[in-house]
Order: sequence, then structure tokens, then C-alpha cells
Amino acid sequence: MPITIGALRESAPGETRVSLVPEVVDKFTAAGTRVVLESGAGVRAQFPDGLYKKGEWASSSAILSQADVVLTVAPLSLEQIAQLRPGAVVIGFLQAHARQAEVKALRDRKITSFSVELIPRISRAQSMDALSSQASLAGYKAVLIAASNLEKFMPMLTTAAGTIRPSQALIIGAGVAGLQAIATARRLGAVVEAYDVRSATREQVKSLGAKFVETGVSADGAGGYARELTPEEKAKQQEALDSRIAAADAVISTASVPGRKAPVIISKAAVERMRPGSVIVDIAAEQGGNCEITKAGETVISANGVKVIGPVNLPGSLAYNASEMYARNLFNFLKPAIDKSGELKIDWNDEVFAGAVLTHDGAIKHEATRKAVEG
Ligand code: NAD
Repeated sequence: MPITIGALRESAPGETRVSLVPEVVDKFTAAGTRVVLESGAGVRAQFPDGLYKKGEWASSSAILSQADVVLTVAPLSLEQIAQLRPGAVVIGFLQAHARQAEVKALRDRKITSFSVELIPRISRAQSMDALSSQASLAGYKAVLIAASNLEKFMPMLTTAAGTIRPSQALIIGAGVAGLQAIATARRLGAVVEAYDVRSATREQVKSLGAKFVETGVSADGAGGYARELTPEEKAKQQEALDSRIAAADAVISTASVPGRKAPVIISKAAVERMRPGSVIVDIAAEQGGNCEITKAGETVISANGVKVIGPVNLPGSLAYNASEMYARNLFNFLKPAIDKSGELKIDWNDEVFAGAVLTHDGAIKHEATRKAVEG
């Protein structure tokens, strides 16, 4: 029997994205599956129901109780998980570390869940990498937020009223979001500096036309990620970075270490050395923030007039493209498990499925989550 794939209108507060866009519904139906959507699923991402030509429509409870695979952006709620049929598959940003009650419910209901955050970051899985697609949107949007909050031009301008100096932008953390932020700030004409603890980023930063800030600290960790810094390394980093922070009009901070609270890199004292009117956009706000005074979802104005902006769900503020990219990531992930007759055949020897699985057959399969939840 061909499988039924369901997508709901997201119910998490502030979530504007949708897990299936019309183009991807067409691809899933062409692959022999049936797709069922909740009315209004794509409305907040500018995909009104009328644009979906191939999908069918059903209520949220009908989708949850009938679908073989439920695609979601945010984690399903406990009430939604309770309606799933045992053996169903759920795929989304399941935020295992923060949503332990939901993980337990997925385990107990014998749901096979895949968390897109866990998809291995190998070359073959790049087209499925939802962390990257969404981080790239966040890096871009953060620079636009900085530009619109600055009371300055970003580019250098030569005008009849004289020459305007370009803004100085500093990007901290040159991963996927940081590199996109560098490229965006450069396109807007800012003079850009960037910094990361991973040594491989030096060349990447330079290739985008930005200057790499040398701090003498390098902290390459496992799997191409950064490791946490020692207190001595932190002090050395801080000394070198503080003067670059003070010189910047706009700081975009994107630093994170997998599975941990974001490192605090911009101290309150460093903010107080910045010029009034300068802006910090802290993409790491939801993970605790890279700036000591960041508050997620708020703009804090420091005593010396620096705006510290802690945006939440930046990809959701570009919901159209964010949904498009995310839905394509989901299709690329699931397609290899759909056979010629539209049935689901998961190859558990495939490192992508084996790596991304969170719960299956009544057990928590992701080791770090299992330890956190079950001790
Ligand atoms: P991330 O979101 O985990 O972190 C963002 C950046 O912050 C990283 O570059 C990290 O090095 C940096 N950082 C951490 N602590 C810092 C500190 N104290 N000071 C300054 N910077 C700090 O990272 P990400 O963007 O998800 O990417 C991490 C890695 O994964 C990169 O090596 C990237 O190239 C790799 N990657 C590989 C693939 C693939 O091959 N499929 C896809 C995406 C990313």
C-alpha cells in the first residue's frame, strides 16, 4: 500500500513555516505516495491552500491518526503525539534536548521519529541538511536586522554632501550562518571582519572578502565542530576580540557548540566599549546568547546606547524560502526510503537513517538523548 504523508498547520507559538510546499507535494505524489494537508498549513508562509494542486485535505486529528509519516517543523505536542498510530513515522526539528517529555511520549507510543538536527553532516546528506538551510536564512536576515537598526549607511557613499564612511561589521562564528552573514554584509558594502575558533574558517572568511581576526586561539573539535574553550583560551580570545567589538558598528554573533549552551563571547564590559548607536544581533539568543546581556525575543539597550537584539526563529521571518528549503530537505531525506510502489522501506544500515533516528520500536535510539532522558 502506498504510504500517506501528512503535514499540519504548525501549532507552536510564532511558527510561520510549513513542512510541505506545493512543489514538494508534487514530488511526493510523483513518487507514488498520498499527501494529506491540514487546511491553512502553508498560509503563514505565503502558500495558500489554492496553490497545492496535488494534495488532499483533512482535519488535524484525521491526519494524525491516519498518516504513515507526519512531517513537521516544530516538535509535535503531547496531545498530537497521543493521536498518532503506533508505528507511524515523525520527521522534524524535534529538539530532543529540550523536549524530553515529548521524546518519552514518542518512545512509549512506539513512534519512529527522526530529528533533522541529527542527520549526519556528510557530503551525501548535504541536500537533506535542514540545520544548514535554516542557518543560512538566519545569517542573511541577521545582517538585514542590523542594517535597519543602525543609524548609519552600510556602504561607503560619495555624495554631494561629502563622503560617508562604510560601516564596520564583525561576524563572530563563521559556520553556515556566519558565512552567509559575511556575504550579506559584504553585499551591503560594509567593511567586514570575522572570527571563529576553527582554523579551517580562516580561508573561508578570506575567500568571502572579509578580514580574519587573529586571536591565537584555535579549538577544532570532533566532526568539524568547535570544542568548548578552556578558561585560559577564553581570556586570550576575549582580549583580542574586545578591541574589534569596540570598533564595530554591527556585530552578528552566531557561535555555538553542539549540545551545549552558546558560549558567552561578548561581555557586558565589551558592549560598554562600543559606540552609541551600534548594534549587536545575537543569533545564538535562543541557546542562551553569545552576549552577556542578550535576552531572547527582546532588544536590550545598554547604558551607553548599544542595541543588543536577540531574535528568535529568524528562519521563520523568511517563511516562504525557509519552508521551500526545509520541504526539499525533507523530501531528499525520505525519498530513498520510498520504493517503486510508494511504500516505506527504511534501510537501517544507511548511516543517514541510523544517525537521524531518535525513537523506534519503543526505545530511544539516540544515545545522548537516551542518557539524558533515562539516566
Ligand atoms: P554551529 O552552528 O555549531 O556553530 C557556529 C560556528 O560557531 C561554528 O563555525 C563554530 O566553530 C563557531 N564557534 C563555536 N564556539 C566559538 C567561539 N567560542 N568563538 C568563536 N566561534 C565559535 O556550526 P555550523 O554552522 O552548523 O557548522 C559547523 C561545522 O559543520 C562546520 O565545519 C561546517 O563546515 C560543517 N558542516 C558540514 C556540512 C556537510 O558536510 N554536510 C554541512 C553543514 C556544516
